[in-house]
Amino acid sequence: MNDVIIIGAGLNSLVAANYLAKAGKRVLVLERRALAGGQAATESFGDGFRVDALHAGGQLRSDIVADLDLERHGFPASASEPLISLLPDGRQLRLTADSDNDTLTSIGAFSKRDSERWPDFVAFMNQAASFLDAAYRTPMPRLPNVSLSEGLPLARLAMKLRGLGARDMFRVIRALPMSALELTEEWFESDVVRAAIGSVAVHGATLGPMSAGAGYTLMHNWLNRGGPGHTRVEGGLGRIADALVAALKARGGQLRTSAPVQAVLTDDQRASGVRLVSGEEIAAPIVISGADPRHTLLDLVGAPYLPPEFVWATQSIKMRGSVAKVHLLTDGAHALPDGTLVVAPSVRTIERAYDSAKYGQTSLEPYLEITANGKVVSIHFQFAPYALRGAEWSQERAVLERIAVDAAASVLPQLKSSIREIRSLTPLDLEATYGLTEGDLNHGQLILDQMLFMRPMPGWSNHKTPMDHLFLCGGGVHGGGGISGAAGRNAALAVLKVARR
Ligand SMILES: Cc1cc2nc3c(=O)[nH]c(=O)nc-3n(C[C@H](O)[C@H](O)[C@H](O)COP(=O)(O)OP(=O)(O)OC[C@H]3O[C@@H](n4cnc5c(N)ncnc54)[C@H](O)[C@@H]3O)c2cc1C
Repeated sequence: MNDVIIIGAGLNSLVAANYLAKAGKRVLVLERRALAGGQAATESFGDGFRVDALHAGGQLRSDIVADLDLERHGFPASASEPLISLLPDGRQLRLTADSDNDTLTSIGAFSKRDSERWPDFVAFMNQAASFLDAAYRTPMPRLPNVSLSEGLPLARLAMKLRGLGARDMFRVIRALPMSALELTEEWFESDVVRAAIGSVAVHGATLGPMSAGAGYTLMHNWLNRGGPGHTRVEGGLGRIADALVAALKARGGQLRTSAPVQAVLTDDQRASGVRLVSGEEIAAPIVISGADPRHTLLDLVGAPYLPPEFVWATQSIKMRGSVAKVHLLTDGAHALPDGTLVVAPSVRTIERAYDSAKYGQTSLEPYLEITANGKVVSIHFQFAPYALRGAEWSQERAVLERIAVDAAASVLPQLKSSIREIRSLTPLDLEATYGLTEGDLNHGQLILDQMLFMRPMPGWSNHKTPMDHLFLCGGGVHGGGGISGAAGRNAALAVLKVARR
């Protein structure tokens, strides 16, 4: 008999599974796909086409790596790389968090004043990220009824915030609701510098650099990357999932792939197991879902088993996928410089790209992030809205691929002639293949009214649901999105409190 069933084998699920197995629970993880890792999988799309399918880089929180002793299970090394903004006139802007000479010289070519301000900006961003990190590791209470035990971690978070000093605390809080433009205008005069930072703010979010709240997404992405550029994992991001799976098995846990869950089974308003699409039923006194909250609650549990207001709140979670991915298999002569490359020449260009998403159109002049892995060049494309107006993704795929290749080739002249094959993933593919409702990679937008104690919805940020012993652990709950593992760890700790009783 299993003590806990976990739905999905994304990184958050695997982190939760490991914490529970480490605490002596018999854990079974059920994944619908044939491989583990969720959005952080490294996979093949045909001969020579092995690549990090979606997410270009990142790292689990170091305390999670240590807690779970992942180094012993093949946890991969990683290194942060610069963000390089490629401009139409051939110039490049290089940004790193360590403010090395190359970075300062590069910024100085656009503005001497901005170059001087860069180290202070990095210090501010690191401080903001550390506050967010502390918030993400603090379980949020179910407002408005905060119990003493839930209030204590919150009090500690408040102390941490105070520890920043009154002036810095004020600056971080003030920056959260700002737009990326407003925030960067306070620091920099060069539009090229502002745009490069603005691209980090909108990465993965359906927001423009002029949208309120992009200050928050900038801090979130800075935290998850450890700076402006990605942390690239040696041998591919999938090695993180491999290490988590190895650690889970060593702790006696089990993973079953190609095992899609169709329903959460209930017994008198309490989760009692799951039914797979195959019809097989598996019992467990505790079920945790790492799938997104909408899919979990509306598809796997079902509205009839939930209170009407809760159903309404779940339906209202804003899922607004507008990211597509275009992978190019090249002959190797693409001549890409090393780094996280972005096509985001001006704040106005990114904002216009976002405007298209508002009107259900694929951006004609998109914001791109381009990364290379050997012969494979991967293009992260924004904005490609899930819900197109007057078009279908079956026809729009060709349009997406053409725009992506042309836009990338406009700053990388040798790219086009090196392309041998193209594989693209539209927002519909993100939903169909990766199980992301409306193609939303964060399992719910990272916006101010869906953060902290409002994630996934107000009053339900403590990983619990109205169904007893059904918990949520994926990127859609407090601590997510991103691949830090914070949501998975927080969920496991919440489950252990219940399971110990
Ligand atoms: C293009 C792209 C770029 C990104 N870039 C960044 C970035 O720069 N920075 C960042 O922080 N984050 C980024 N992300 C987001 C990040 O990858 C995710 O937040 C993170 O991987 C989520 O992990 P998770 O475990 O919460 O969920 P997921 O990885 O989504 O895992 C959920 C798992 O549940 C499975 N599942 C769903 N339904 C069922 C079911 N019924 N039965 C069984 N299994 C089921 C799914 O198949 C999946 O494996 C990006 C994502 C994408 C798509």
